[in-house]
Amino acid sequence: ASFGFRDVAVEAKQGMVDEVFHKVAARYDLMNDVMSAGMHRVWKDAAVSWLAPPRGRPFDVIDVAGGTGDIAFRIVNRSGGSAHVTVADINASMLEVGRERAAKRHLTDNVDFTLGNAEELPFENGRFDAYTIAFGIRNVPRIEKALSEAYRVLKPGGRFLCLEFSAVDVPVLDKIYDVYSFNLIPGMGKLVAGDAESYRYLVESIRRFPHQERFAEMIRRAGFSRVSYRNLTGGIAAIHSAWKI
Ligand code: SAM
Repeated sequence: ASFGFRDVAVEAKQGMVDEVFHKVAARYDLMNDVMSAGMHRVWKDAAVSWLAPPRGRPFDVIDVAGGTGDIAFRIVNRSGGSAHVTVADINASMLEVGRERAAKRHLTDNVDFTLGNAEELPFENGRFDAYTIAFGIRNVPRIEKALSEAYRVLKPGGRFLCLEFSAVDVPVLDKIYDVYSFNLIPGMGKLVAGDAESYRYLVESIRRFPHQERFAEMIRRAGFSRVSYRNLTGGIAAIHSAWKI
């Protein structure tokens, strides 16, 4: 077996990502509000309303890279309490914050927090009705692996939904966004979380992530059908939807 430069880089990436989220976990939710001026809430609401979890019947969701539980709590609330969400995240510090938040919201019956890697999910085939991942997949070193795991753990007829930063496709907004992200985000990270470097990584990872069409193609290649996407705020974020038929 070869263990080339690319593999080494890939291994190093996960370590770096883990360090970033370990460092920011306690301030993660606050930082989200500050950095996105509250927009992440609107985007998450949009993703969960596109998922449209049914009310009054069981609906078993896995929220991968689910961190502190934002998507999970929204799914449970929108289902009127009939959905169950398993949050799987590679980072114990993020999960700890998530567990505390779930307890405060009295949602511990509906939401479980499990340590798990998106590239190798600790669940059997065909277990879930839906797979969600929000602002998570760009952190995963091997995106193809995460997508094929998503396909594997879904039931036939299951839904895939991914919310992620994407490519801005509105003139002028793209320039403003560039200035904002490259010049202001690291500074704000330093001010609020005492950490500019983690937020510089964040901006870089957004730039390197495949744009809407290319990502849709990767989802198709993982076996999914009826792949589509919606842009949010001029493409600052996008939601990709797909089905395992
Ligand atoms: N989904 C949450 C939200 O939208 O607020 C958290 C998103 S946060 C930006 C990214 C999360 O991805 C972190 O909690 C991090 O630990 C997790 N993550 C990174 N690499 C992962 C992997 N290989 N498998 C599972 N989770 C991972």
